[in-house]
Amino acid sequence: MSARTRIVLLIISSCIAGLLTIGESMRSLAGEQVHDPVRTVRNLYEAVDWQTFGQYKANFHTHTARSDGTGTPAEMIDAYHDRGYSVLAITDHDYSHQQASDQVTYPWTDYGRDPGAIDIVAVPGQEIYTGPHDLLSLFNTYPGKGRGSEILAMAGVSNNGGLAVWAHPGQYHSEYFNQKNPERFSLKWYVDSYRKNPHLIGMEVINQKDRFGNGSYNDRMLWDQVLTELLPTKMVWGFANDDSHNRYDVPGGMVGASWNVLLLPELTYVAVRNAVEAGQFYFVSRYTIPDPRGEAPTIVAIDIDETAQSITVTGKDYDSVTWISEGRAIHTGERLEYTRTQGIGKYVRAVLTGPGGEAFTQPFEVLEMRQAD
Ligand SMILES: [Zn+2]
Repeated sequence: MSARTRIVLLIISSCIAGLLTIGESMRSLAGEQVHDPVRTVRNLYEAVDWQTFGQYKANFHTHTARSDGTGTPAEMIDAYHDRGYSVLAITDHDYSHQQASDQVTYPWTDYGRDPGAIDIVAVPGQEIYTGPHDLLSLFNTYPGKGRGSEILAMAGVSNNGGLAVWAHPGQYHSEYFNQKNPERFSLKWYVDSYRKNPHLIGMEVINQKDRFGNGSYNDRMLWDQVLTELLPTKMVWGFANDDSHNRYDVPGGMVGASWNVLLLPELTYVAVRNAVEAGQFYFVSRYTIPDPRGEAPTIVAIDIDETAQSITVTGKDYDSVTWISEGRAIHTGERLEYTRTQGIGKYVRAVLTGPGGEAFTQPFEVLEMRQAD
């Protein structure tokens, strides 16, 4: 029996059960008769107390003069610290170190900065070339130098207890690369990489000023396609990173173009890692819209009401909220009624759009049916 057939049968049987016990399993909501819930939504922000948790800015993709950047590690750390960031990963390339070193740019104390003294969490990392896909290796010090293989890079990150994220996959999931080698750049290839690697937890879906967000290059289109294929097996978190190569803001550089906002009970290394692993963050870009002005949107709270069957997003500095499921916009407005709204597939995610940019939630998995009682 296919999953779809099973769902249809479950819905039919729940309707019959509802008719038999009419008055019990049907109830009034906002003056209308509705059946018992046939959908639930997994709230990945469930552990977040929006009143008491802090919101911490994070960039997980930064280069220094130790690879192809121009700023020293200390200059890059200062650039982010000065702009109010609380979490930073320096991710120099593994293949172009200027210094004859087989090490990641870590610990920062080797480069003149003590993260504890400036109240910032230093995440060890590396951008590993796997030919040509680039892998962000985070929370570990695997050097990855000169490997050029997805299998070796993935194993290296895993064996060192790290987490992995594909950097700007839209660069490679394009018509050009697909025509060259569909075995290596197809949707199936990405889906398989997530299936095979439990520590591969995410995808950079905004890079710099969203340079792979348009046309045949499209990080977020790929994200939606991968989620649609993978769920309910596995979730893939979206990331927005500067991929900065110098210490300047736009237009001279990329510092502060796109960022992640971690939702943390306290600012510690362990809390940062837990939040990244659990998808307990949202992400923001100023440059997914033309001519950004003023403050970028922020998310103040997300509330899932299982009785009303709704998700409500509260934010600041936005004009509209768009809900996306399986790559299609299915609703606009702060409140989504996830059982009533048409077109909802395996997940929904929200985008808050304002004059200063956009804020993106992680995907909420939609489960079609509760276990029959
Ligand atoms: Zn990079």
